[in-house]
Amino acid sequence: MKAVRIKEHGGSEVMSYEDVEQPQATASEVLIKVEAAGINYIDTYQRSGLYQISLPATLGLEASGTVAQIGSDVSRFQVGDRVAYTNVLGAYAEYASVDQDKVVSIPDAVSFEEGAAAMLQGCTAHYLSQSTYPIKRGDSCLIHAAAGGVGLILIQMAKNAGAYVIGTVSTEEKAELARAAGADEIILYTQTDFEAEVKRITDGKGVNVVYDSVGKTTFEKSIDCLQRFGYMVLYGNASGPVTEFNPATLGPKGSLFLTRPTLFDYTADRESLEWRSGDVFKWIAEGKLTLRLEHFFALADAQEAHDALEGRKTAGKIILKP
Ligand code: NDP
Repeated sequence: MKAVRIKEHGGSEVMSYEDVEQPQATASEVLIKVEAAGINYIDTYQRSGLYQISLPATLGLEASGTVAQIGSDVSRFQVGDRVAYTNVLGAYAEYASVDQDKVVSIPDAVSFEEGAAAMLQGCTAHYLSQSTYPIKRGDSCLIHAAAGGVGLILIQMAKNAGAYVIGTVSTEEKAELARAAGADEIILYTQTDFEAEVKRITDGKGVNVVYDSVGKTTFEKSIDCLQRFGYMVLYGNASGPVTEFNPATLGPKGSLFLTRPTLFDYTADRESLEWRSGDVFKWIAEGKLTLRLEHFFALADAQEAHDALEGRKTAGKIILKP
């Protein structure tokens, strides 16, 4: 079968589209014929070496498809079932073999492409808005990279929970998309001081929660956008990692909370995985959540897809089609 592999960490040029042996399902695994593999920013960290993985490796942490084979102990699925999964490496391929406990069924009303997008970015927006800081009606929040894959989903979940949403984006085109997803205010953080704008919009008060996936270039100012007892949720490093921070500063700034959550922990048990993916699928089917699926690349063009993502040229979800 074909797969996108890396043998060393580096730029997008280290990815190669090659023939590899097709995996077989072990006793507890299902073999999935991949219909849609999701591209996520974390794939670029695993490729570059910011996040270390064992090499050589097939990239990709999320896919949807059809069950092609089941292991002898598999009880949850049958051949032909429509399924999706996340948090297992190897999705940039024609087939992926995944433990049944990591896999969920996709309802008929949800397409393979939506199924792939729902798992990593959808479940991330779910845990951020429902668990890390459970948004309440009347809360205000700041969402950075608001037109990104996670960003557009998080806006909708925050609005559905009753929040006032301020988003940041780099271009007018992205601003339009974030507004269409429901954001109340959009700040072009590449042109405007977003801290001053947040203070202006909130009459100097600041927001209850900042969801910051940009990291290095936004972290410090994000903390200054919070009101007393506010939550600083740092969940990504698109501009580079935050490497220095003095926790003592959280006190005088209003007894703030700081957390660095990961999807892995928030979907570690079967109950959490089913709850989060089930809500995301249900909200898609009910029309409460719309996923922006516009960027499709052939598996052979994964390098081009990474360049577009890191070059800030995409909005919403990027899908690889084997
Ligand atoms: P996005 O589609 O959001 O792409 C990243 C966006 O970050 C870009 O489009 C860009 O938006 C913005 N950005 C700001 N500065 C830079 C920069 N210097 N270089 C590149 N992009 C920049 O990606 P995803 O939705 O896949 O992921 C969003 C973030 O969430 C990532 O940081 C990812 O690691 C994190 N994440 C964390 C998870 C967790 O559990 N902790 C799980 C899933 C994702 P703009 O042009 O508008 O600035």
